[in-house]
Amino acid sequence: MSRYFHSVTLDTEKCKGCTNCIKRCPMEAIRVREGKAMIVQERCIDCGECIRECPNHAKIAVTDTLEKLAEYKYNIALPSPSFFGQFKEQVDIEDVFGAFSGIGFNEVFEVALAAEIVGYVVHEYLKEYKGKRPIFSSACPAVLRLMQIKFPDLLEQVAPFLTPMEVAARIAKEEASRKTGIPYEEIGAFFISPCPAKVTEMRNPMTTKHSAVNGVIGVNLIYKDIIRHLGDRHLAGGGPEQQRATKLGMAWGYVTGESKNIDAGTTLAVSGIHNVMSLLEEIERGELKDVDFIELQACTGGCVGGPLNIQNLFVGRIRLRDLIKRYGSKEAYLDEKELERIYRSNRYASTEPVEPRAIMTLDDDVSRALMKMERLDHITNELPGLDCGACGSPSCRSLAEDIIRGIAFETDCVIKLREKVKILAEEILDLARIVPPSMSDNSKKTGNSKH
Ligand code: SF4
Ligand code: SF4
Repeated sequence: MSRYFHSVTLDTEKCKGCTNCIKRCPMEAIRVREGKAMIVQERCIDCGECIRECPNHAKIAVTDTLEKLAEYKYNIALPSPSFFGQFKEQVDIEDVFGAFSGIGFNEVFEVALAAEIVGYVVHEYLKEYKGKRPIFSSACPAVLRLMQIKFPDLLEQVAPFLTPMEVAARIAKEEASRKTGIPYEEIGAFFISPCPAKVTEMRNPMTTKHSAVNGVIGVNLIYKDIIRHLGDRHLAGGGPEQQRATKLGMAWGYVTGESKNIDAGTTLAVSGIHNVMSLLEEIERGELKDVDFIELQACTGGCVGGPLNIQNLFVGRIRLRDLIKRYGSKEAYLDEKELERIYRSNRYASTEPVEPRAIMTLDDDVSRALMKMERLDHITNELPGLDCGACGSPSCRSLAEDIIRGIAFETDCVIKLREKVKILAEEILDLARIVPPSMSDNSKKTGNSKH
């Protein structure tokens, strides 16, 4: 099993071992051992739930920094659609564009614009598609990683197209290269991300061999700098002409935006990783075959709810909707003919299938795996079933699995430990009651009496 980069990591110094995070992780990927959390790398999908949950800010997302801009001759910021919802009412999109110039970017390319293109191609694809339904969105990398591990049989139903982030990087660099004459390779495209999953996706892309994105910078990392430079409109790149996305792409910043843009037959939009999981379980059981397209977003509320965003998700959504009212009615960036040409060219189709990742198996050998499964069931039944997390594993079942894998003991369970101590104590008491033969009154045994 090849290991890959993870954006979500633990700041050991800050971790107090409180176990708050282990319950929230949808993949049961966190254990607390010796007073510190640890992430089981193979299981983590970089959804960022643990970042939200940790009261001690010990879970962090590693992202790129602005220093990386120095590696390129010309730099383009690719703000996610949700980014524009992070500011106060009076802040215009032009102000934000100007601020990007102020912190070192040469221009801004909205990912919302690329989202419109993806929306169009998926819409056309669904019109011709005759296979199993529903088709799932490929936009959220945390959801795709979840499906790789827990729902491998549904992967064939993922829309076979690149993400808006990837499409945006390609178009932005091609446009800039044509305009400036700078070679494509010397242009840097930096996604401004609301979530850690996008960092992981850039480093280990699932739908393409090589990402065209050169860096992913967390919103939390540059927000203060952007605020300081808001209104630097006089700088290059701050002009209103650079804002080209319409409401179709801008609305991808919150849940339902994507499915409304795709607008093909019956659609459904679900957000929040735990909701996504329960829906996929239903679909695995054969439900919702009559639905054409399902938008799945790991973060509650969609990308506005991303763990690296600054605003509360509801505030972010309202701000974004307000901007959509003010800016979203522009003419579409590409006309229907050009979009049709893009669709037919297959230019933004995925080049790699999203492969399953079999990390949940107990053993490579089937018969050994079956034996271990039996043992796992037995140990689980022996455990109290409280799922209290005091052992450092998220549930009794996961503790049983850890025991099978040799990384935990039955006595890690406090109740089991108590039972064992009780048995031991009783044995000690029994032993304490035993009197050596030299001191014991044998007359009772033999029945002899002095009287
Ligand atoms: S929530 Fe998890 S990472 Fe945060 S302090 Fe508690 S155990 Fe450590
Ligand atoms: S990022 Fe998500 S999957 Fe990874 S450890 Fe945190 S909660 Fe679990």
